Formats: sequence, structure tokens, C-alpha cells
Amino acid sequence: MASPLPVGAHLIMAAEHFQEILAALKRQGYEAVGPTLRDGHLIYGDLAGVADLPVGWTFDAEAGAFRLKRRDDQALFGYGVGQQSWKQFLFPPHHLLWRATRRGGDFQMIPPAEEVPRYAFIGVRSCDLHAMAVQDRVFLQGRHVDPVYQARREQAFILAVNCGGRGCGTGFCVSMGTGPRATFGFDLALTEVLPGGKHYFLVEVGTDRGAGVLQAVPHRAAAAAEITAAASVVAAMAANMGRELDTQGIKELFYRSYEHPRWDEVAARCLNCGNCTWVCPTCFCHTIEDVTDLTGEVAERWRRQDVCFTVDYSYIHGGSIRPSPRSRYRQWLTHKLATWLDQFGCSGCIGCGRCITWCPVGIDLTEEVRALRDTAASFKETEHGEP
Ligand code: SF4
Ligand code: SF4
Repeated sequence: MASPLPVGAHLIMAAEHFQEILAALKRQGYEAVGPTLRDGHLIYGDLAGVADLPVGWTFDAEAGAFRLKRRDDQALFGYGVGQQSWKQFLFPPHHLLWRATRRGGDFQMIPPAEEVPRYAFIGVRSCDLHAMAVQDRVFLQGRHVDPVYQARREQAFILAVNCGGRGCGTGFCVSMGTGPRATFGFDLALTEVLPGGKHYFLVEVGTDRGAGVLQAVPHRAAAAAEITAAASVVAAMAANMGRELDTQGIKELFYRSYEHPRWDEVAARCLNCGNCTWVCPTCFCHTIEDVTDLTGEVAERWRRQDVCFTVDYSYIHGGSIRPSPRSRYRQWLTHKLATWLDQFGCSGCIGCGRCITWCPVGIDLTEEVRALRDTAASFKETEHGEP
């Protein structure tokens, strides 16, 4: 039997063997999910085999625009993040918490009997590893642990892929210190390298669990030149970021800007559709819905993902505390980039750029922060006024 692969080992795996990673995960009882094309969209879905990946595809992303296009090679991971994030698997957007049935004058509570899926996340980017770490703080590290999230998170296998080549359009992970290279939180991390007709992965072993999967797949030790070649693929990406965000003193900037006129300007463009929050991998707002059947014999309590852009979300006895589009956009961005730091000790933004790409009117938070910063000196701070 081959000796176990040490954590931190760098190995080379030919691209043709990627399928064997999926097969090894399946043998170990994992359900592989990862990027795939469905109805012309890049989504995360079931991966039965390597052919389900968007092989040979990439995309152009800009504020309010996303276009899939062909690459001139057969890269397995030659694209960045699409509109979906992994939170849909770890924090299901619609989840039954309990059911109750009437029993005479009483009722019986029935906890949902569900088998927790054992996911293997394939192709997780560094920014999204940071997003998971942010959600870990929210769901696992506070006073109340969320059992739904915990059960899924603890057993998930994570195969990360380092971003390489050209920039991902709207992302700014370098500014946020969240990418493009995965540095923690993975079982295996791959860098895809396609030099002059060759096609291979540099694989970094992150955990013993990852080593156990890779053990079943043909591989060899990486030469120093191959490690350098993979590093330069990632470095090229870091040098080609689509966006930048100056985070210096950002919390204080937002706290000073509560009454800044820029909020009116952005509110005039914002549709309050909530897309920016639906696609954000760190947003965790949710609401509770109670429903009954028509006979009144069965009642259910569901948890449903919600967003801070609806008037109802901030309805507190007698009315909403954020009645205007201005107050809702300001709340969202101030929470992401400022109050999150006080609340959780980290930024609520990991720089994936999804909110920029999927905003139908192309509102770009990096531009909004720049506008606040550029005019901060001319804006005279006032006491908090109308919401
Ligand atoms: S705020 Fe935008 S860029 Fe930041 S993590 Fe959320 S979706 Fe990504
Ligand atoms: S910023 Fe864009 S995505 Fe977000 S609510 Fe406004 S219009 Fe929708």
C-alpha cells in the first residue's frame, strides 16, 4: 500500500484523471455538485462526470452583463464564479423546520426526518472559501449554532480550484485579501495548467480526507518548475483583477457618510430588486413562514431566505424602519462593508463581484465606495436624519 500523502504535498495529476476524483468521491458516498451549464446558464448542479463541467467555456462579466463564450482550449475550470454560490447547499433557501398535526384538542410536533446530503463541492474558488468562513461565523461561532447549516457544513468535502489566467471581470478578491489562490478551508486545491498542448493540475493536499481521495487517482510528485508554472497562472489572474476596492478606513468612511447625498443618487437608479443580496455568498437574512393545510389538521414552519431590500423585511410593529429605497441600499452596503466588521469581526464582502454582474442596472459597489470616498471631504457630516 502506498504511503499516505502528507498535508501540504504538491502533486501533479493529468487532466484526463479528473474523472477518477469524481469516481473516488462517489465511492466514498459523496454527492458531487459543481459548475455546470443548464439552459444557457452557468449554475451549480449535480456532476455525474467530468462531461457535466462547462468544459471549454468561459464568460465575460461586467456591471449588469454576463456572457458565456467558448474558449479555444478544453479547460475544465476556465471561468470564474456564476450567479449562484454554495450557500444554497449549506443554507437551503427554503427549509422545513417542523410539522405539527392535530390530535383531538392537542397537537403533535413532528421534526422533519431528513437525510443530510453529503456534498462534495467541486471547483470552489478562494473568494467562496472566505464566504463560507464568513457564514461559519454567523451560523456556527455565535451564541446559537444553526443545526441545519452545521450538519451540511461539517461533512462537506471541498475541492478548491485556484483562479488563473485572465481576470473574472467584476471580482476584486485581491483588494479584499480573499484570492485568487486558496489558502485554507479545502480538502484538495487544484491549479489548472495548460502549457503548449499539455493539460494537468497541480494538486495541493489540504487534509487527510483529501489525501484519501487523491490516493485513488494516478499522480506523481510535482517538480519545482511545475509548482512555479502553476503559481504564475494564479499571479497572472491577480494582476488582472476587474475591480479594486480601497478598504483603508472603510468602516469610518461609512459611519461618516450616513447622510451623504450619494445615497439619493444611487437610490434613483436602484430597482430594489434584491438581486445583489440573493446572489451574495455571505448574505444570510431569512424569515419564518407558518402554513396550514386547508383542513387545519397539519401546520408547518418553514425557514425561507429573505433579503433586506424588501419593505416587509424591516417591518417592526407599526411599520417598516427602512421605508425608502435609499435607506435599504444604504443598509445593505453599510452592513456589508462597515457594521459587519463590528458585528462579526470581518468584512461581509469577499469581493466575488456577483452583486455587480447581476445588478440589472449595473450598480457597482466599488464605484459607490469610490464616490463616497472622493466626496467625503466636501460632504459635511450631519446627525442621522430621515431613513
Ligand atoms: S457584496 Fe457583492 S462582491 Fe461582496 S461578497 Fe457580496 S456579492 Fe460578492
Ligand atoms: S443595487 Fe442593483 S441588484 Fe441591488 S437591489 Fe438595487 S437594482 Fe437590484
